[in-house]
Amino acid sequence: MIIKKNIVIPVKEHGIAVQQLCQHATEVVRCLQDEGYEAYIVGGSVRDLLMGKQPKDYDVATDATPAEVKTVFPRCRLIGRRFRLAHVRMNGTLIEVATFRGPQVNDDDDHQHQDGRILRDNVWGSLEEDAVRRDFTINALFLDPITGDIKDFVGGYKDLAERKLRLIGDARVRYREDPVRLLRAARFVAKLGVELAEETAAPIIEMTPMLAEIPPARLFEEVCKLFMTGHAVRTLETLQRFQLTNTLFPVLKEHGKGGKATISPLMNQAMKNTDLRISVQKPVTPAFLLATLFWRPVRERVAALIETGMHEFAALGQAADEILAAQVQRTAIPRRFSVVTRQIWVMQPRFHFTSGRKAKSLLQERRFRAAYDFLLLRAIEDEALEPLCDHWTEAQKGVKLNTGHYNSRNRHDKKHRGRHRRRGLRRSSSVSKN
Ligand code: ATP
Ligand code: MG
Repeated sequence: MIIKKNIVIPVKEHGIAVQQLCQHATEVVRCLQDEGYEAYIVGGSVRDLLMGKQPKDYDVATDATPAEVKTVFPRCRLIGRRFRLAHVRMNGTLIEVATFRGPQVNDDDDHQHQDGRILRDNVWGSLEEDAVRRDFTINALFLDPITGDIKDFVGGYKDLAERKLRLIGDARVRYREDPVRLLRAARFVAKLGVELAEETAAPIIEMTPMLAEIPPARLFEEVCKLFMTGHAVRTLETLQRFQLTNTLFPVLKEHGKGGKATISPLMNQAMKNTDLRISVQKPVTPAFLLATLFWRPVRERVAALIETGMHEFAALGQAADEILAAQVQRTAIPRRFSVVTRQIWVMQPRFHFTSGRKAKSLLQERRFRAAYDFLLLRAIEDEALEPLCDHWTEAQKGVKLNTGHYNSRNRHDKKHRGRHRRRGLRRSSSVSKN
């Protein structure tokens, strides 16, 4: 990658006023500069401000090493192994301070895997070198909050104006170095409404298998960023467009053609609900989202197990375990989530017991509300479940539930309720049908 001439964009051109910036990030930069170091606000926050969006956090890049940052901010914490950086707290706000990175030493096994993947990224470098090791041009703009200037070595300012998402350097090499960039590309397209530059988009589909080399725990973090930041609907569309869904969720594999998974109406609605909940600052849990994503393979496995003579309840438990075990090979799922996902699934047949002791104990389950919300989603695909939904909507009125709140679909409108009451409750085969 040839470093372009440093282009300086003055404040009168880019228009980000000092007052718009997080004071604490500015303060961190000022302290570092006062000690003679170079320091800038960089990455997503500069990009978001230029796009007129509110940054969710601020990153600072500096030529001070983590140890030197520690001398400037003695109470900061040095974190990370793969990517070492300093966490500086200013009046409760966390600012991530990273040292400029330089190019990797290619023949050093410790840093680079044979397939081109970068394992550790702790070689210090200059400002220019730090710019070109970043992923996309629009993520490599350096803002000096004291002078107001933005420094751009990679044409990011122009790309941003044109709403282009472009990898810095040779796209194939950059995806190979860190295949998570494939997912980051999809995430930024969904989140920012930008379009991929042609050369950045071209290799994606052929490179998707490389995601399998990423440690499952890191992929789980990415899944959370993909689906739990308010753009789940667009993210899923984008993952589908770039045929990334199947690689990320191998258990969906049989359900689609040409690398695309089949997105069920239930999944779509779950994504919509998640985005809606985030937009009004309601909590969301990956456990519920995962339950919606993998319900179809679970159901199909249940059907196969029932064929072999297994009872529905036992089949559901076994199918849940099998599907989760298969998926965690690719994306880890911390147990605190997978346990809840499983509970949501195995509670489904219990909704068919609408009276007596069993019904009462179901209402007292800690995950009742999540399982009920899941039942509402299932009714999108199986009308026969609607009377059951209405029954349980009524049944929980006045009952103190044992649980928090998850995704829900608003089914409390009168028109629906009247129609269902007339139809009455009918028992439909539970999991294997929907
Ligand atoms: P978000 O709004 O999701 O936080 P972001 O651009 O700030 O977007 P972060 O994951 O917070 O993304 O990373 C901060 C910056 O670090 C990025 O803007 C980019 O410059 C750099 N970066 C992050 N991940 C990578 C990566 N995998 N490869 C290269 N550079 C990266
Ligand atoms: Mg960020």
